[in-house]
Amino acid sequence: MVIEEQKSLQQEHTFGIQASTRYFIEINRDEDIVPVILSLTEDQKPIMILGDGSNVLFTENFPGTVIRLNTKGIAVISENEEFIIVRVAGGEIWDEVVAYCVERGWGGVENLSLIPGRIGASPIQNIGAYGVELKEVLEELETVHLETGEKRTFSRDDCRFGYRESIFQQTLRGQYFITGVTLKLAKKPTLNLGYGSVKQELERSGITSPTIKDVREVVCRIRRSKLPDPRDAGNAGSFFRNPVIRTDQFAGLKQQYPDIVSFADSNGVKLAAAWLIDQCNWKGKRAGDAGVHPDQPLVLVNYGNATGVEILALASLIRQSVLVKFGILLEPEVNIL
Ligand SMILES: Cc1cc2nc3c(=O)[nH]c(=O)nc-3n(C[C@H](O)[C@H](O)[C@H](O)COP(=O)(O)OP(=O)(O)OC[C@H]3O[C@@H](n4cnc5c(N)ncnc54)[C@H](O)[C@@H]3O)c2cc1C
Repeated sequence: MVIEEQKSLQQEHTFGIQASTRYFIEINRDEDIVPVILSLTEDQKPIMILGDGSNVLFTENFPGTVIRLNTKGIAVISENEEFIIVRVAGGEIWDEVVAYCVERGWGGVENLSLIPGRIGASPIQNIGAYGVELKEVLEELETVHLETGEKRTFSRDDCRFGYRESIFQQTLRGQYFITGVTLKLAKKPTLNLGYGSVKQELERSGITSPTIKDVREVVCRIRRSKLPDPRDAGNAGSFFRNPVIRTDQFAGLKQQYPDIVSFADSNGVKLAAAWLIDQCNWKGKRAGDAGVHPDQPLVLVNYGNATGVEILALASLIRQSVLVKFGILLEPEVNIL
């Protein structure tokens, strides 16, 4: 095991903010996970698990140990005519797993194509896109407790998944290391085409009987055309979650703002945070190197040398203006450290 000291994290996360960690360890084999956790002294803590850093904002140097998991492997656990159950190592890249499944005709994850990051991080916020969430295919996941080194398996119900949330962001925040994820995929997939732009793009391409491969291609095309690439300008995708509000509160807003963009939600009405931010005229605004993307107001951007504190200050101003105009407090989707 190699422990790097005072390692810069600038290249290790997609915002590209200058920050460092006191210690940095990469784990390449499952059997090393528990011994590494147990070997860390109090002086080397706290511990933070970093995937590809596509959902984090560093506002200061990390005082403990950052661990990155590089374990690889996709193993078939069981299958029948309808389903296949696969165990994926926590260090696998999410989109490479999607590609692997789609190639074999295993359906369920094709709408989640091209989401950055690693498998181990995917349950943390129950990744979702184009009408599908991870919870729909996740069977269970394996973890190691970061204090005791004990292994524990969580079922889908144990994870308490919600819209961009799980128990790992709430009561168990920062306590467990997700080391493997088991997915249940369909051999006779039912396509999820409820999301407008996927359906439209399929029609535009003249595809009348789409396969999961077509859906993956279309989702990749839409994402590439819409979302800013962190290699061009540092970002972590959507900075805020779409807020879910009560139906009576929504009725009042709809009267005042007939064009308000909303979606049905089991807990009320979900609003498009991008629309709310856009209405407050934030699109394309910049404060030094911290900015709001000119096309995607939900994406905050590091144009070069912004600090995490500057990005956070911009986020605070945006939250304040949305609160004043609409009475809605936006919650960050990005993990602020
Ligand atoms: C351009 C862009 C587009 C995006 N689009 C989407 C989208 O459509 N839908 C969506 O849901 N998200 C999206 N995201 C957010 C991001 O891709 C996901 O949240 C992803 O799952 C993060 O993976 P990661 O490996 O980069 O995690 P990191 O950013 O490294 O970590 C995120 C959090 O998870 C914790 N963590 C990471 N790995 C583990 C582990 N093995 N065990 C325990 N804790 C862990 C970290 O400590 C941190 O708190 C987007 C991001 C970008 C930059």
